[in-house]
Amino acid sequence: KLNPLSRHTKNSAALFEKAKKVIPGGVTANIKYMAPHPIMMEKGHGSRLIDVDANEYIDYLLCYGALILGHGHSRVYEAAMNQMKKAGTTIFGTPHRLETVLAEKLISLFPGIEMVRYTNSGLEATLLAIRTAAAYTGKPKIAKFEGHYHGGYDQVLLSVNPEIDMAGDETEPDVVPESPGIPDYYRKNTVILPFNDIDATETILRNRAHEISAIIMEPVQGGFIPADEIFMTKLREITEELGILLIFDEVKTGFRLTVGGAQNLYHIKPDLTALGKVLGGGFPVGAVGGKKEIMEISAPDGGRDILTAGAENGSKKDPLFHSGTYNGHPTVLASGLATIEVLEEEGTMEALLADTALLRSGLEDIYKCHDIPMQTVGKGSIFNIILAEGSIRNYRDMAKANSTLRSKIDYELLKLGIYTKPLNRYSMSAVHSREDIERTLDAHDKAIKIIRK
Ligand code: PMP
Repeated sequence: KLNPLSRHTKNSAALFEKAKKVIPGGVTANIKYMAPHPIMMEKGHGSRLIDVDANEYIDYLLCYGALILGHGHSRVYEAAMNQMKKAGTTIFGTPHRLETVLAEKLISLFPGIEMVRYTNSGLEATLLAIRTAAAYTGKPKIAKFEGHYHGGYDQVLLSVNPEIDMAGDETEPDVVPESPGIPDYYRKNTVILPFNDIDATETILRNRAHEISAIIMEPVQGGFIPADEIFMTKLREITEELGILLIFDEVKTGFRLTVGGAQNLYHIKPDLTALGKVLGGGFPVGAVGGKKEIMEISAPDGGRDILTAGAENGSKKDPLFHSGTYNGHPTVLASGLATIEVLEEEGTMEALLADTALLRSGLEDIYKCHDIPMQTVGKGSIFNIILAEGSIRNYRDMAKANSTLRSKIDYELLKLGIYTKPLNRYSMSAVHSREDIERTLDAHDKAIKIIRK
C-alpha cells in the first residue's frame, strides 16, 4: 500500500529506492531525509521547485535559506556566466581582483568586519573563526550556546538538539555530543551556555574566563529564535571585560535580517563573524570577517608583528594556518556579489521583510480561526511555525510545541504544493509574490481542514 505522499510522488519513491543502494540512506546530508522518502527535485524557477513527478511547489526551504533571490535569478546567473566567459576559466587558483571587491563590500556592510578570508562553506567559516580566536587569545576552550548549530564538526557538534532529560540543568547545561564518533576531548574542551539567560551565562563565564578563548553564537538561534537585546548587549560587555572573543555565526542571519546581518540590527560589533549561504548566491561558500588585529594573525607576510596575547616572551609566531583549494572561487564570488547588489537596491529588503511579516500574520490568523495554539517566531526573512503558547526564547522552550500536529500539516502542505521540509523553518525570498503568499495561506487552511475531517 502506497503512503499517501507517495501517491503524488511515485518517481521520487522509485529514485529513492535506487539512491539507497549506492548512497547511505539515499541522502547526501542526513537532514535531507524525510519519511517515507525525500522528494527528488528536477527544476527550479523563481519561488518554485518542480519535482521528478512534475509537481510544482512554492519553496520555503530555499536551500536552507541560501536562495534569498529564489531559483535562477537572472542577475545571479548572468554574473556567474559572465565571470566564466570573461576569465575563460572557472577558477584561477591564484589571488584575483574579485576577492578584494567582495571583501570591500562586506567591510562596508558589516560593522564587525575589517578584513575577510573566504572558505567553501559555513562550516569551514566557523571552524576558521574558532581557530583564529584560540590562536589570538592563547586559551584552550570555546563556549557555545545550547541548541546553536555551527556546522557538523567535532568541536561544535555538541548540544545542538538537546534531549531535555540528558542535557543537565537549564542554567548549566551538560555537553551532549550529537553524533557517535566525537572524541571525548571535545566534550571536555567545550563549555555549553544557556541561551537568553544572561545571569547564568555570566556566572559560567566569570568562573571559566581564564580558559575560554571565544563564545560562538547564532545571534538568532536556528535563524528564528532571537537573542534578547539586553542579553546581547550584556554579553558583549561581559566578553569584552573578560577578554573572551565574541564570534557571531551569521551563516543564516547574514543578509537575511539586514543586508549587514544581525549585528546591524543589534548594534553589536562582534570580534569575528562567520558568513555563508546567501553570500554564495546559491554556490558553496563561507567567509570569516573580523577585526584587523585579529584577522592578521593568518597573514603569511606577517601583516603586523604577530604576537598572540598568549606569547609573553614576544617571540614571533607562525601565521595561523588557513588553506583551501577553492577558497575565493571567482564564479562563486561573482554570484554572491550580484546577489548582494540586488539586495542593496532600494526597496528589495523592505519588500522582502514586509512580505514575510504579511505571511506570518496571515498564518497566525488562520490558526487562530481554527483554534490551534500557534505563533510564528522569527526575525527578518526567516521564521518558524510553533504550535504552542508562551514565549519561545531557547531550544528547551521548543519542547512545548505540538510537533506531531505540525508534522501532519507539513505533509498535507507538500501534497498541496507547499515545500517545507516537515518541521523546518520558513525562509522567504525576494521573488515570492503576493499570490504565492495567498496560495500558501489557503493551503494551510485546507491542510488543517483535511486533518480535522
Ligand atoms: N552555521 C549556521 C548558523 C548554519 O545555519 C549552518 C548551516 N545550516 C552552518 C553554520 C554550516 O554551514 P554549511 O552547511 O554551509 O557548512
